[in-house]
Amino acid sequence: MDIELVKGVGKVTLEYLKKLQIFTINDLIEYYPYRYNIIRIVPIKDATLGDTCTIRGIIDTEPKVTYIKRLNKLSFRVLTDNYLVNVVIFNRAFMKNQLKIGRMINLTGKYDDKRNQFTASDINFEMISGSKIYPVYHLINGLKNKTLTNIIREAINSNITLEDYIPDYLALKYNFLDKYKASLIIHDPNDYNDLKKAKLRTIYEELFIFMFKMNYLKYKYTLDNVGIQRRVDKKLVEEYIGNLPFKLTDDQLNTVKEIYHDLTHKERMNRLILGDVGSGKTCVAEIAMYINYLSGYQSAMMAPTEILARQHYEGISKDFSRYGIRVGLLVGSLKKSEKNKVCEQLINGEIDVLIGTHALISEGVEFNNLGLVITDEQHRFGVNQRSNLQNKGQLCDVLYLSATPIPRTYALTIYGDMDTSLIKTKPSGRKEIITKVFNMKQIKDVLSSMLNEIKNGHQVYVVAPLIEDEDGNSDLNDVIKLKDKFNVAFNNKVNIEILHGKMKNKEKDEVMESFKNGITKVLISTTVIEVGVDVKNSTMMVIFNAERFGLATLHQLRGRVGRNDLQSYCYLLSDKEVPRLKVMEESNDGFYISEKDFELRGEGDLFGTKQSGDMVFKMANIKRDYKILVQCKNDAKIFVEENYVNNFSSYKQFRNLIKEIEFID
Ligand code: ADP
Ligand code: MG
Repeated sequence: MDIELVKGVGKVTLEYLKKLQIFTINDLIEYYPYRYNIIRIVPIKDATLGDTCTIRGIIDTEPKVTYIKRLNKLSFRVLTDNYLVNVVIFNRAFMKNQLKIGRMINLTGKYDDKRNQFTASDINFEMISGSKIYPVYHLINGLKNKTLTNIIREAINSNITLEDYIPDYLALKYNFLDKYKASLIIHDPNDYNDLKKAKLRTIYEELFIFMFKMNYLKYKYTLDNVGIQRRVDKKLVEEYIGNLPFKLTDDQLNTVKEIYHDLTHKERMNRLILGDVGSGKTCVAEIAMYINYLSGYQSAMMAPTEILARQHYEGISKDFSRYGIRVGLLVGSLKKSEKNKVCEQLINGEIDVLIGTHALISEGVEFNNLGLVITDEQHRFGVNQRSNLQNKGQLCDVLYLSATPIPRTYALTIYGDMDTSLIKTKPSGRKEIITKVFNMKQIKDVLSSMLNEIKNGHQVYVVAPLIEDEDGNSDLNDVIKLKDKFNVAFNNKVNIEILHGKMKNKEKDEVMESFKNGITKVLISTTVIEVGVDVKNSTMMVIFNAERFGLATLHQLRGRVGRNDLQSYCYLLSDKEVPRLKVMEESNDGFYISEKDFELRGEGDLFGTKQSGDMVFKMANIKRDYKILVQCKNDAKIFVEENYVNNFSSYKQFRNLIKEIEFID
């Protein structure tokens, strides 16, 4: 049924609904109130001065309209609990005709017992005994809460079938309300107990669907899919590790072991490496590619940005050159002829490792025999994309790298379709990065510290929230102006460059080159450098308007420095007192910071939900509803295991979910 057919939805309302992203009846029914108002009828003798309350009474006199300046005022009397009370209400002259003598009404407002006057802010005529709960929705200008409430009620009662995704046996086990009833209650609750039950059921269903997808993917890839069972001489891998210029940390070694196991067993690898910036994930990924290379297969590595892809390309080509491993780069900015050449070499098996942005696997690039796909910064890819990746090579193993250290318990659930390896320990010899918050009045101290680092032969990153303040009326610092200010402060004696997203790739490359070679001393940028850039000689990160950035971003930015044994610093400039910044001063540990981020902001944007979309729940909240999530995880696992083989035959509605994640039409 079309949403236009719901009673009360005219052309105008339809436009409002579209603006609220409500396109279907289901969208409408799942447009949940963000809070509720409760109206409790009190006897007039209990109405205390100053408190808002609701009374119920019978209109006793004809309402009079008077005008005071631009306001209109209705005055009348009501009989309530055998008292006659004078009522005034402003700007309701249009209701005069509804306010007939003898009519029963509810009045919400404040009572002044000395003057025996009730100043009402709201009138309604609903039959309420005791109390009533009203849903309150997020609205846009022009659309009334009441209108939306009515439309939603009509929609629920319009005889549509609401797809119920909670399997019967689970609904029975938990004594859940059915979906129809729960929807009615959520939009028109009678009491809080019912409301709680209705919400619980709705939250459970949302999380169950999410966990179903996870478990389905996991089960499918571990059961059905037989991957490559590589035969690799362990000694060669040990030799490779022995040749590294450093000793692997215990966590790195464990992760390598897990990967080795995955790659040499017939089950396909589907593994996530979670580790802080600089914990040495890339190095582990290289070992995985080496193992894959030894067994005769090609590897692909995808990075979220071109800068990162190029950087990986340079580092990895260098590391692999002594083993004769041929590394290629494929990014959007290559010339057509260059791209063609790479693609040709790829299909001919003349490239062993291909590095690029995620266009690598989506653009119909053909491999000779792809055996391993690695994606960097996994949190930017949602469940659906994860699934797409696994479908790329028939037998392909998949490894994800994420520098977004989310609390382990959450990781286990949210990345429930993958195996996880954790790299917690940092390479030894690393010093804690000294982090300090400054206000703008202390800028001189910051400048002299910067100069100090530069004098010692080190380099400095500066980050600002804006590229350019075009209308010149923002309070925020911008990259362009900062460069001028620094040049003044440093007497044009320091080599300063800028880097931002609006620059051409060639310019960006030149700037990066010059910074990497140590010619540029100060690099001012927006957060384009957020992910992964590795210049070991930089020892200071200065962030302007630090209050504008979330903890995840601040932590990522700080990870640009402290990449060797030099003492490094992170200075956060802000004139606002934000608890986040204190957390940054307190700790260098990404896992601690992510726990704090959860505490401070609920689920936060750590998961990159905005990018992936599939973690956006309409009612559930990962943090608040974590226990339900865990329950759903267990329930969904059993459900999938028991119904996978017979193709979910008694649960038709789940086939649609499967289509959604498998891109089947
Ligand atoms: P990540 O990918 O987790 O950000 P990288 O693998 O890029 O980390 O490592 C960061 C830096 O530390 C690199 O320059 C790398 O060569 C170096 N590194 C990695 N592992 C170790 C180790 N065990 N000991 C010392 N340095 C290491
Ligand atoms: Mg395997």
